[in-house]
Amino acid sequence: MTTNEEELTAIRASVASLCAGFPAEYWRALDRERAYPTDFVDAMTREGFLGALIPEEFGGSGLGLRAASAILEEVHKNGCNAAACHAQMYTMGTILKHGSPEQKSRWLPAIATGEIRLQAFGVTEPTSGSETLALGTTATREGDHYVVNGQKIWTSRAEHSDFMILLARTTPRDQIKSRMDGLSVFMLDMRAALGNGLTIRPIRTMMNHATTEVFFDNVKVSAANLIGEEGKGFRYILDGMNAERTLIAAECLGDAQWFIDKASRYASERKVFGRPIGANQAVQFPIARAYAQYRAAALMVERAADRFDAGLPAGEEANIAKLLASEASWAAAEACVQTHGGFGFAEEFDIERKFRETRLYQVAPISTNLILAFLGQNALGMPKSY
Ligand SMILES: Cc1cc2nc3c(=O)[nH]c(=O)nc-3n(C[C@H](O)[C@H](O)[C@H](O)COP(=O)(O)OP(=O)(O)OC[C@H]3O[C@@H](n4cnc5c(N)ncnc54)[C@H](O)[C@@H]3O)c2cc1C
Repeated sequence: MTTNEEELTAIRASVASLCAGFPAEYWRALDRERAYPTDFVDAMTREGFLGALIPEEFGGSGLGLRAASAILEEVHKNGCNAAACHAQMYTMGTILKHGSPEQKSRWLPAIATGEIRLQAFGVTEPTSGSETLALGTTATREGDHYVVNGQKIWTSRAEHSDFMILLARTTPRDQIKSRMDGLSVFMLDMRAALGNGLTIRPIRTMMNHATTEVFFDNVKVSAANLIGEEGKGFRYILDGMNAERTLIAAECLGDAQWFIDKASRYASERKVFGRPIGANQAVQFPIARAYAQYRAAALMVERAADRFDAGLPAGEEANIAKLLASEASWAAAEACVQTHGGFGFAEEFDIERKFRETRLYQVAPISTNLILAFLGQNALGMPKSY
């Protein structure tokens, strides 16, 4: 589980060598078409990076979150984008932690090899938004299966996934004893459900992100696909969110390094008024400040991952890591655009694309305000806003 610095360096080197096969032109062309990076995802799968967190007994690499973070950070540092496949890494955590022995051996080995693509995570709904406990998609037990009705939004990669981890209401809100109860987690076979009540509608976004709306009209899911106990699903999902937030924070660290590297090189090379623009502190300092922000965020990502790997509570650290890292990557993106002047807007410099991509992380998978509310209320004991 624990990976030493030497092993992390080796992992980073092999990720970097994979990424070298997917240069900027590859991502630029996909961005233009809003197309899915199938070859990149296949390569990540083949090299076993997406099975990093799956224990060896189930065919994965048995690595911890620290190593998984290094993988995703390196992908982004090298100008690639893991958003198309990162969920394959962590979504299975719900099965690993809360699934039955039979469910683990049924699914985890196939997820580790990529034979089963578990890329879709259906939590957010159009009406409830950040208020997950208010979600309205229902799963009603009928004999040996449940019948699902409702709608999800922003279900990313649904068109490129075989299964979805679905959070749905199994007990009406007015009948639950504790506010955390009443929601359940299912491993929904989307291949079987498509055309049988499940409809996926892509949403075109400002960056190339294969996200969708998903509609459920009497979709059947076997009771054997309920993960853990009925009604306890929200707790299971919360548990997995710490891993997700830490990993996405690691992607932000990678983005930050990409922007900082690009900006500092250009600032040193580009000459205007007879000297490099980076000699002007108004150009140099925003890049240096973004670097300081990235370094501080990196410590928090490490701390969150180490606590998660040690089985310690990591909610506060994972949230702070995501907050700081998403702000660091944004500061770096801003500095990079500004440093490049007009060229910051040219497609062939890739900056405007990465700028659009990294902006997402202040909103998803959780928005900055909700993290601040979590810290204000839980770390500092201030009054609740929700
Ligand atoms: C590209 C993309 C991919 C995504 N992928 C997935 C996915 O795969 N699966 C999935 O389930 N979800 C996914 N999401 C959803 C994402 O997690 C949500 O968009 C995010 O959590 C914010 O929720 P919302 O959009 O409903 O905003 P809302 O909840 O409507 O919030 C809107 C704004 O109000 C603020 N706000 C709301 N309540 C409060 C409050 N109490 N105090 C202060 N501010 C508040 C928020 O911070 C936010 O800035 C994705 C989103 C995007 C854009």
